[in-house]
Amino acid sequence: MSGRREEGRGQRPRVLILGGGFGGIGAARKLAAADADVVLVDRNDYHTFQPLLYQVATDLLETDAVGHALRDLFHDQPNVTVHQGTVTSVDVEKKVVEFSDRAPLEFDYLVLALGATVNFFGTEGAEEHAFPMYTLADAVRLRAQVLERWEAADRDPSVVDDGALNVVVVGGGPTGVESVGALAELYRSNFAEDYPDLPQEKARLILVEAGPTLFPMFKKDIREYTVKALEQRGVEVRVGDSVASVAPGRVTLKSGEVLPAHTLVWGAGLQASERAGDLPVELQRGHRVPVEPDLSVAGHPEVFAIGDIAWITDSKTKEVLPQLGSVALQAGEWAGDNIARLLEGKETKPFEYEDKGTMATIGRGAAVVQFRRGRTMKGKAASLAWGAVHLALLSTGEDRAKAVIDWTWAGFTHERSNRISVQTDDDKRSDT
Ligand SMILES: Cc1cc2nc3c(=O)[nH]c(=O)nc-3n(C[C@H](O)[C@H](O)[C@H](O)COP(=O)(O)OP(=O)(O)OC[C@H]3O[C@@H](n4cnc5c(N)ncnc54)[C@H](O)[C@@H]3O)c2cc1C
Repeated sequence: MSGRREEGRGQRPRVLILGGGFGGIGAARKLAAADADVVLVDRNDYHTFQPLLYQVATDLLETDAVGHALRDLFHDQPNVTVHQGTVTSVDVEKKVVEFSDRAPLEFDYLVLALGATVNFFGTEGAEEHAFPMYTLADAVRLRAQVLERWEAADRDPSVVDDGALNVVVVGGGPTGVESVGALAELYRSNFAEDYPDLPQEKARLILVEAGPTLFPMFKKDIREYTVKALEQRGVEVRVGDSVASVAPGRVTLKSGEVLPAHTLVWGAGLQASERAGDLPVELQRGHRVPVEPDLSVAGHPEVFAIGDIAWITDSKTKEVLPQLGSVALQAGEWAGDNIARLLEGKETKPFEYEDKGTMATIGRGAAVVQFRRGRTMKGKAASLAWGAVHLALLSTGEDRAKAVIDWTWAGFTHERSNRISVQTDDDKRSDT
């Protein structure tokens, strides 16, 4: 930028928000009344509601129920401008951000909300053959793969014995459990009806977890309930084993067992966006950016990091907050409020997280919730609690109304309207 002010830039301070996930949106919303130009940039022109990605991958919801146009979200907020762009570097000393596909942008205040990405932990073949579940594109790709394999088996049933219908899901945390649970609903209800001539008992769903238990963050009663709920849905649960390598049509476990499977879903690990490495701080586990109690980055009171990219310590419990939508949204709103305070010459406030419980859905009417003080809830009541908490995360009232209708309809009818395959040029990922 060579010390020259960026061309076309207004006179008001600029707040640059990188990432239009829960964190970025929360921050932008809280700056509605601020005397500043707010610029939000995301590599996509839409916000992704990640908690419902499984429902897209298993055809229960369509993509527009989970992706919402970012520009549309800020029509009523005249001080916000949305751009599509992929961040390639963040320079907090020079206060400028560079992109692969647009001119650099300067900032007075920065909110880093670029989220996280999948971590294959160097597992041989995973990068090439596994299906991660982190973006809307991932969900659409997995949906196409699963449908394609069932159609392939319908054309030539001999591929069933080669593992065409088998899916191995890696990871006994929420992403792995929720993915395999959603696949089980699709397999055992819909595909059983769609493909009556195929041997359903040979369509295996296998969940592999390296640790000794699924859901290590939950109490014993929830862990036991989860295994039972999955097994009732025909999922084989393997704990204490992990994936050593992935090759086309084969998944080899550390124990030496070779599972014939054309599809491997990776729900095992996350790492923060690589842009975390641009900041002048020592990163924490998972490549996450440690933040001060007010969510700013040490030595840079004008730079805030929030959501999955940040390592946020709860001021009450002193524990590191998990990478969850509610943490990202609340931290985003808090960072937005703190920037508004700085703009008014006031001091920032330390972040206080309101914990509504840790929760996960396993299948229809089967969810689990653990509240902060240890009380647990399982089954239908937990599904309702999950719905209530996640409805609050949806971006607009219209989204909420649509989600209620879609979920209720799907819950009553078990119908999946979107079960057709549309080929696109970039469906390049081959079978495992
Ligand atoms: C499958 C799945 C299910 C989940 N289920 C739940 C759940 O049930 N409940 C819950 O609370 N949480 C859930 N989570 C976690 C929750 O979705 C995340 O914690 C939350 O989305 C984090 O918000 P964020 O704003 O930090 O990041 P994100 O929501 O990931 O947003 C980051 C944004 O940055 C953009 N971006 C990334 N890199 C770049 C770049 N280089 N340039 C420009 N833009 C970029 C991305 O496009 C994205 O829009 C789930 C996550 C996944 C993957």
